[in-house]
Amino acid sequence: MPKIIPSLAALALAASLAACAAPPSQAAAPVPPAPPAPHPPAGMTLSAIASGSTRSTAAMAFEGGGRDDRRTFVAGAILVDHPKGKLLFDAGYGRDLATHFKTAPAIMQATIKPVLTTPVAQQLAAAGVPVSSLKAVVLTHAHWDHVSGLQHFSGTPVWVTKAELDFADHADGAKLARQLGTGNYKVYDFPDGPYLGFDHSWDIFDDGSVVLVPTPGHTPGSIAAFVNTPDGKRYVLVGDTAWQAEGVTLPAPKPALSRMLVDADGPGTWTMLQRLHAAAQAVPGLVVVPAHDARVWSTLPPLQAR
Ligand SMILES: [Zn+2]
Repeated sequence: MPKIIPSLAALALAASLAACAAPPSQAAAPVPPAPPAPHPPAGMTLSAIASGSTRSTAAMAFEGGGRDDRRTFVAGAILVDHPKGKLLFDAGYGRDLATHFKTAPAIMQATIKPVLTTPVAQQLAAAGVPVSSLKAVVLTHAHWDHVSGLQHFSGTPVWVTKAELDFADHADGAKLARQLGTGNYKVYDFPDGPYLGFDHSWDIFDDGSVVLVPTPGHTPGSIAAFVNTPDGKRYVLVGDTAWQAEGVTLPAPKPALSRMLVDADGPGTWTMLQRLHAAAQAVPGLVVVPAHDARVWSTLPPLQAR
């Protein structure tokens, strides 16, 4: 017996050491309970507004993606038009994209070529939605390709988390946000309770139609937005936590090179991907909308003239 006890202890120690050595995020996140039914008001809509794109491959977007699997990386904004206020998620490319792109990481400048079609603000104006009518631009995060279009929204509040404002004010990865100025940035918190596996949330309109949750990882203050429209559709805007939908649907992390290039916290990003994957299991039909997946964007409602 005295000989067995040390060996059991050694086994237990070895097991606990192995558990420590393994990335803590290897275990899949548990499927959370479904949230209360949302009550989006009649007339609320979601519209996708592409402002341009760049080309890359699935191999750059997620582990297991093919090098011959060419992907269009769209850049733009999602308009959520709620009777209590119009919210624009991200700002897409602005008119001065060529200059703005010079703030991107050098490797990115050498490998991709973003092409501007039409800035979001111009498309909004053409559709009868003046920029001045927006309640806020809500940034999923403050990277260059999400803030470039802010040059056209000088009077609009820009909602960010405290962690993202700190990132925008100080980080290397947010040079353009600083160049354009963070004077309009307004910090919000997550005053509401757990939502789909996330400990905290903000139900912006108190009707379950637009619920923000923190997804730190890609940047320290990244967020995801669950959007539920009156036609029964359910969306989650995941920003750049995943570049293409497979990041969440498989789930799969970005490849090592992409992680090093763009994720402030690679393991943290993977934890959020697993949590979003679990959330998708709890909401049948949930449409996962990465900020750059053109295939998903092509299925979203386009902006209609008012
Ligand atoms: Zn990003």
